[in-house]
Amino acid sequence: MKSCLIVDDSRVIRKVSRHILETLGFSVEEAENGKVGLELCDRSMPSVILLDWNMPVMSGIEFLVQLRQRPGGDAPKVVFCTTENDVAHIREAIEAGADEYVMKPFDHETLQIKLQLVGFA
Ligand SMILES: [Mg+2]
Repeated sequence: MKSCLIVDDSRVIRKVSRHILETLGFSVEEAENGKVGLELCDRSMPSVILLDWNMPVMSGIEFLVQLRQRPGGDAPKVVFCTTENDVAHIREAIEAGADEYVMKPFDHETLQIKLQLVGFA
């Protein structure tokens, strides 16, 4: 089954994203920060990771760099979620190993398109 890990410190964003992802047939796990997210990845690598940019404990970029260094950490497709409508940030995310990005707030259709672009949904 296709699985998605949501790493975001906003409970509201996690709830909205979970609803969209479950509608698209994903099994969903949530982490409120990157540390918890990496622990979940160590247990089982998800197909897709929806990754917030601004988080306490560890930024999205820090999470991504650590993920990609782990055994099997190159496998998940990572969709970076950012409110920073900033080309430099997007480039930084892609260079750190993100596969796609989506601007917050996103709706069902936008997220579905991004997931299609990385080969899911
Ligand atoms: Mg955040």
